[in-house]
Amino acid sequence: MLMMVVVFATTAVSGQENYKDKHEKLIYENKDFHDVKTYDTDKIKFKKKPENIILLIGDGMGVAQVFMGITANKGMLNIVNMKDIGFSKTQSADHYITDSAAGGTALACGVKTNNHHIGVDADGKKVKTILEIAEENGKATGLVSTSAITHATPASFVAHTPDRGEYEEIAKQLVNSGIDVFIGGGYDFFANRSDKGDLIKKLEKKGYNMYTCLDSVPDNIEGKLGVLTAPKHNPPLPKRGNLLTDATEEAIKVLNKDAKDGFFLMIEGSQIDWASHQNDVAYITMEMLDFDKAIGVALEYAAKHKNTLVIVTADHETGGLSNHGIDIETGKVKGGFSTGGHTGIMVPVFAFGPGAELFRGIYENTEIFHKMLYLYNFKSDK
Ligand code: MG
Ligand code: ZN
Repeated sequence: MLMMVVVFATTAVSGQENYKDKHEKLIYENKDFHDVKTYDTDKIKFKKKPENIILLIGDGMGVAQVFMGITANKGMLNIVNMKDIGFSKTQSADHYITDSAAGGTALACGVKTNNHHIGVDADGKKVKTILEIAEENGKATGLVSTSAITHATPASFVAHTPDRGEYEEIAKQLVNSGIDVFIGGGYDFFANRSDKGDLIKKLEKKGYNMYTCLDSVPDNIEGKLGVLTAPKHNPPLPKRGNLLTDATEEAIKVLNKDAKDGFFLMIEGSQIDWASHQNDVAYITMEMLDFDKAIGVALEYAAKHKNTLVIVTADHETGGLSNHGIDIETGKVKGGFSTGGHTGIMVPVFAFGPGAELFRGIYENTEIFHKMLYLYNFKSDK
């Protein structure tokens, strides 16, 4: 088993761009079980409507990825606490099978757009994101990602461009977004740019505390926070350590200081998608369990504060993954795949907290944006 981990750590690709280089690995025996708290949602007196929303996106996470995590953690995940469950239809404006740009934009902006588009509609027109609307309404806002912060999913919440590959432009737009905390990779798109601009300096001038490592962030920072944890994408597990849970805790800590007017936070488990592109069960399982640990942090906050809605969903499924066993008692999993790309199947939506019941049923991915808008008491821009 150690062999498998070592091989995986040194050969894993750094991004979706390389997904065709798949190396099929169908069996994995998990040894890293995590404790799961259980919450009796009927007994928690949630507020009527949320002031805070934490949206967790497992990129590429279909029901099979979730159940692979459940099997690998001996039958229990934090996500199991989320009793209000629905399904989101992920088709984009121009494709039955969406990419993460159109999928992210549907969740962030409430419009169906073409694949590769970020924060613009199918005609290329800029559409406001839930993060920008929250910001305008005085809420604190944040983004956390295990990819580069400029990659399609997080970019969909702060940027507007027809081309998801414009990382330097996306970085520039993030600087002007007013976001309060962002943690993810992508340092080079801010600091080593083809236009020689120094966006780190610009961010610092705007009042951001900028770091390249979560460990160096002091306990009580004043003002905004940006942590660019890798030159481009963050490494896969186990190399990445507890980055996602630590980043989730840090982001919530920063936003909680401004909780008077509430906050919006998006957290992405980016590499469930990359692992699924590679048809690599070990990589999928590790990323899924890591994502569930971050879900645990969000649920703990929501159970305590009662004004916080936690939503967990995906932009699309990847790999056409199926569960072929093996053993819930020991955490050994086996998967099968139908593709190295995305699929068009519905993805699950889990909700916990005030308004969670609105997420039951089967609906278009764009509805998730409109439900959030409604629950925040914001008017739809449409
Ligand atoms: Mg993504
Ligand atoms: Zn993908």
